[in-house]
Amino acid sequence: MMQSFIFPGLTTRVVFGSGTTARAGDEVRRLGHDKVLVLSTPHQQADAERLAATLGELSAGIFAGAVMHTPLDVTQKAVDAFRSSGATAVVSLGGGSTTGLGKAIAVRTGADQVVIPTTYAGSEMTDILGETAAGEKTTRRSPDIRPETVIYDVDLTLSLPVGLTVTSAMNAIAHAMEAFYAPDRNPVIVLMCKDALAAFHKGIPALIADPHDRTARAEALYAAWCCSAALGSVQMALHHKLAHVFGGSFDTPHAETHAILLPYTTAFNEQAVPDLLAPIADAFGGGTAGGGIWDFARSVGSPLSLRAIGIQEADLDRATAIAVKNAYANPRPIDPGSLRELLQAAWEGRRPG
Ligand code: NAD
Repeated sequence: MMQSFIFPGLTTRVVFGSGTTARAGDEVRRLGHDKVLVLSTPHQQADAERLAATLGELSAGIFAGAVMHTPLDVTQKAVDAFRSSGATAVVSLGGGSTTGLGKAIAVRTGADQVVIPTTYAGSEMTDILGETAAGEKTTRRSPDIRPETVIYDVDLTLSLPVGLTVTSAMNAIAHAMEAFYAPDRNPVIVLMCKDALAAFHKGIPALIADPHDRTARAEALYAAWCCSAALGSVQMALHHKLAHVFGGSFDTPHAETHAILLPYTTAFNEQAVPDLLAPIADAFGGGTAGGGIWDFARSVGSPLSLRAIGIQEADLDRATAIAVKNAYANPRPIDPGSLRELLQAAWEGRRPG
């Protein structure tokens, strides 16, 4: 019998296609705004300038200072720029770092958000905001954080470098993996996650062969939407906790950290809930979910070991201690010994059985 469930609905409006950035002005007006601040990283400033030009008199200017992990000092400058610009909404054009800055402004000012994601990280559909101050990352969830509108434009992802294409897709797959066993999962999200795995499995190898393959870019961006919706709908567990530990306390790069940990966290929890993780083995082959993801990661050139991103073997005890400090829901009980073994395998890059 199907388990009972609650489907909370998906409240964010989604516009998906090619050339859809041109619809940003209509979407801003639809939300009732006539002045917006455009956000980007310094790297994507030229894209932000093009968007501001397209928005015409709706644009109140650009803040192109977004950086990874939403540091509070940058947020303060952005909030000041937002207030002095006269804008009442933001348009965030970029990856998770830019979306994070838009959320940080929204939660402090009540601004509405239109997000135009250009990676597969998946922040745009969620009510989650991670922020850093004095080297410490804190995360909160609130309905005020969730963006009102997301515009997915396949054209903007054509420039995503192959390395980030791969690791960002692995980051997205991690949201799907944990959604399969989330205690608050529902059949709609599970369907979306299964579809996402199939789309990434097809799309990512095609993008390695040709990063400008529009059909494959569309597959991958669609998959990213599904995974973002999953992250924004259900609770995450061990995998996201560990990624947070390494990103927050060892300053490892976000997408690579997710990519490296994923086969090991999958294999760890597969021992407790093999049936729930069967869709991963079905999508990637390899006999097991953990082994299948590891094989896929290797075939697409994703980094495989924590040592490859500068973690020392001696750091693993400290990471274990931080990860077990606060209790959280996970399908397999977590004890320091088994977690330390997981991290050892991830550090070495060994294929999980
Ligand atoms: P990012 O946003 O930092 O982007 C990495 C770099 O790639 C940046 O310089 C960016 O300008 C550039 N870039 C992005 N898209 C590009 C494109 N299409 N072409 C060329 N260059 C492009 O990286 P990310 O992995 O997308 O996001 C990571 C951040 O997102 C982290 O801070 C993470 O905590 C956060 N995040 C939050 C959530 C959430 O729900 N709160 C979910 C996922 C990620």
